[in-house]
Amino acid sequence: MLVVFLGPPGAGKGTQAARLSTKYGLPKVSTGDMLREAVAAGNELGERVGAIMEAGELVPDDTMAAVVEQRLARPDCEGGAILDGYPRTVRQAELLEGIATRTSLGGVDLVLLLSVPEQELVRRLSGRRVCAECGANYHVEFNPPAREGVCDRCGGELRQRGDDTEDAIRERLRVYREQTGALAGHYRAGDTLHEVDGRGDIDDVFRRVDAVVSGAVRA
Ligand code: AMP
Repeated sequence: MLVVFLGPPGAGKGTQAARLSTKYGLPKVSTGDMLREAVAAGNELGERVGAIMEAGELVPDDTMAAVVEQRLARPDCEGGAILDGYPRTVRQAELLEGIATRTSLGGVDLVLLLSVPEQELVRRLSGRRVCAECGANYHVEFNPPAREGVCDRCGGELRQRGDDTEDAIRERLRVYREQTGALAGHYRAGDTLHEVDGRGDIDDVFRRVDAVVSGAVRA
């Protein structure tokens, strides 16, 4: 089963994709995480995308298609995957159809659109902190760690993402409205889209997400 999470930055795609991944045993494929790893490793891909990410812009579609195809071709994705942060443009959605065919995944089975009002997104993103060691997510107000600045899970240092600054957040939301917003229409036409209210408690949102996924698994 190939599941796609859509929604603006800060909607909770990564958090909900991680929960689904645990419950259904499908790998979570996050393009943002893969790119951040490339930047941290300082490899050729990282060199190309670092400045683009820092500014809150989108990495070119052909670069992303190569990254995603390589990942989905790995054996752990044979039974499907949960995509977090891909596709982000209509062109990427078209390229994903080719990738899914070539990797024998068939096609996108389910698209979950997490909707959250914009002023809530800004609050979530500006307070977000991420563990530099294990990648766990926190929020200074809504989901604080037991000790300020320290990861509960591994003791790693909590940092603010380079693109969670006010200017980059504003740019990412603008890019979302202009380029990714149209994707909902693309998938709505194909009947795979389900809109889920992304407001409120993480557990409540997961219950809503899982109701859609378990319904699709049973069907
Ligand atoms: P995310 O962690 O999903 O918010 O992604 C962080 C940043 O990585 C984005 O602001 C983009 O610069 C880049 N990125 C991640 N996924 C994609 C994608 N599918 N297409 C283009 N750029 C991407």
